[in-house]
Amino acid sequence: MAIFIVLLGPPGVGKGTQANILAETTKLAHVSSGDLFRENLKNLTDLGKLAKSYMDKGELVPDGVTISMIRDRLRRPDCGLGAILDGFPRTPTQADALEKMLTEFNGHVDKVPYITADVPVLVERISERWTCRAQGHIYNRTFSVPKQAGVCDIDGSELYQREDDKAEMVTKRIRVYLEQTMPLVEYYRKRGKLIEVNGAQAVEQVTKDLLAALKK
Ligand code: AMP
Repeated sequence: MAIFIVLLGPPGVGKGTQANILAETTKLAHVSSGDLFRENLKNLTDLGKLAKSYMDKGELVPDGVTISMIRDRLRRPDCGLGAILDGFPRTPTQADALEKMLTEFNGHVDKVPYITADVPVLVERISERWTCRAQGHIYNRTFSVPKQAGVCDIDGSELYQREDDKAEMVTKRIRVYLEQTMPLVEYYRKRGKLIEVNGAQAVEQVTKDLLAALKK
């Protein structure tokens, strides 16, 4: 049975960074809904244009299109053994839809690491975040500095600051998270799947804690 790990946590807590590391370690696919939307945006697809109108405001893209985008992604062969889900689900409706689609795909949500940090830490981290144009690799001015300024170590593409990472959008995104995504903490706690991990530590320590919690 395929294993799916849902990474929960506020914007800026390091889900993307940890998802990349976990995917490498576990050999499961890394599925990031934000990256998928950004890819659609770059390719100017209809979905990308629709998503942009929400992303630019720091709001969630409607559940229907988000769920079908993820369904298409999880159907791809690299998800055969499972995936690390980063940024999806973000609402209880999406979580219900995930349960249903995984039954269909003969998989299940195994564990849900909930990575936490206080709001000031999130705001600071997001404002210092740089993302690679080609594949979304993540850097930070303080603790994950690229070897050459403005260039991705992994694929050599340009690093840029996401529009929605600019200061004026960050508080809005955190508010949307608290209102719409926080209910998932209880959703997965009730199902006995939630494991809390302190995200206000060095990247390597968060990874250690995550791997230890996932092994239990
Ligand atoms: P992220 O890269 O996860 O911070 O996502 C960037 C933006 O993409 C969010 O602010 C939303 O506008 C949109 N987005 C990503 N994932 C979802 C989701 N599961 N549901 C709705 N909107 C999403």
